[in-house]
Amino acid sequence: MVFRILRSDASIVWKDEEILKRYSKYRGIIDGTHLARYLIAKSIKCNFKLSDPIEKLEGLLKEKSNEFNELLNEDPLDLKNRVVHEINYITLAETIAIKYLMKCIFCERQCEANRISGEKGFCLISKDSFVSSAFLHMGEEPVLIPSGTIFFQGCNFGCVFCQNYDISQAWKGRKDIEDVAQKVNTIQLAAIAEKLVDKGAININYVGGDPIPNIHTIVGSLKFQKSNICQLWNSNLYLTEKSLSLIIDFMDFWLPDWKYGNNKCGKKYSGIDNYFDVITRNHKRIHDEGSGEICIRHLVMPNHVECCSKPILDFVAKELPKAVMNIMGQFRPEFHAFEYSEINRRPTSQEMQEARNYADKLGILWRPVS
Ligand code: SF4
Repeated sequence: MVFRILRSDASIVWKDEEILKRYSKYRGIIDGTHLARYLIAKSIKCNFKLSDPIEKLEGLLKEKSNEFNELLNEDPLDLKNRVVHEINYITLAETIAIKYLMKCIFCERQCEANRISGEKGFCLISKDSFVSSAFLHMGEEPVLIPSGTIFFQGCNFGCVFCQNYDISQAWKGRKDIEDVAQKVNTIQLAAIAEKLVDKGAININYVGGDPIPNIHTIVGSLKFQKSNICQLWNSNLYLTEKSLSLIIDFMDFWLPDWKYGNNKCGKKYSGIDNYFDVITRNHKRIHDEGSGEICIRHLVMPNHVECCSKPILDFVAKELPKAVMNIMGQFRPEFHAFEYSEINRRPTSQEMQEARNYADKLGILWRPVS
C-alpha cells in the first residue's frame, strides 16, 4: 500500500494521559503507527455491478463492514502491506450514496428529492457540492489543531441562532450558490484535502453548514486521497441509519455538535423532528460500532441547562463512556435568536458552572478540550 506519511511534528504535545488513552488511534495516525481507516478500506475488494438492486448493494456493504472490522484486530503494521484494490469498500459506499441521491435520504428530514436530476430538498444542495472555504483552523480543540477544515455550503438544519448563517442559511433564496462557494467534484475535494496536509494539517475536518448533504462527494474523494491522515466528521449528526452506514467505518474521529436534550427544543429552534431520538441513536452507533474516538461539542444555551444540558450529560455518562465533551460557553444570540426572548442573551457564568459541575458529578471528561 502506497500512501503519504504526515510530517512528524514535535510541537504536538498531548499532556493529558486520559486523552492519550481515549484518542490513541487518532494519535497513532499522527505518529505514523496507525493507518487511517479509509486507507484500510481501500484494501477490501468488492465485486458488484452498478445495475445491482440497492438491497443487494446494502447487503454487500454490511458484509464489507464486517470484513473491515475484523481487519482492525490485526497488527497495524501488517495492514500497511495490504494491496489497494481499484473497486473497493469505498467505491461501494460511493455507489450506494449516489443511488440514495435519487431520492435523498442522507439526513432524517428524508426529503426524497431527486438531487441527481436537479431537485433540491431542505438543504437546497443539488447533486453538486460547494466548498465555501478550506484552511488550517487553529481555533478548534487543542488536540485537533492545526485542523484541515473544509466548510461546505448548505445545511439540513434551520437553527434560529445559527452562528454560521452566511454559509448555512442566509444565502438561501437570495444568492446563486456559485457566487458564494466553489463547486467541487471528488477529485477536486481530494486535492483540497491533500493541500491542507501539505500545509501541516493533522486531520481533515468536514464541516459546514453541515457535511451530511455532501456524503457522496466526501466518500468519493477518499478514492483519490493518499495521505495517512485522520478523517474527521464535524456535524449535527442528524443522519439516517443508512447514510451513517456509508461513513461509519471511514471516519477516524467524530466531532458532533449536540445541542438539545429533548425533541421539543430541536423542533422549536432548529425546525427538525425527533431530534433527541435520532441523535442518541447515532451517538451510540459511532461510540459502539465506529472508531469510538469522539469529542462532543455542547453549546450551553441560556435557560436550557435543565431541559437540554443535563439530559445530554446524563446520556453521555451512561451510554458513551469513551466520549470526551467540550462544554462550550460561546452561545451568542445571532441570526433570528432575538425573536426568542429566552435565548436572546449569552449564558450566564452560573449557567455554565451549573452545567460543568453536573458533568463533574457524573464523571464526564471535559476539561482538556473545553
Ligand atoms: S440532505 Fe437532508 S435536507 Fe438535504 S435533500 Fe437530503 S434529506 Fe433533504
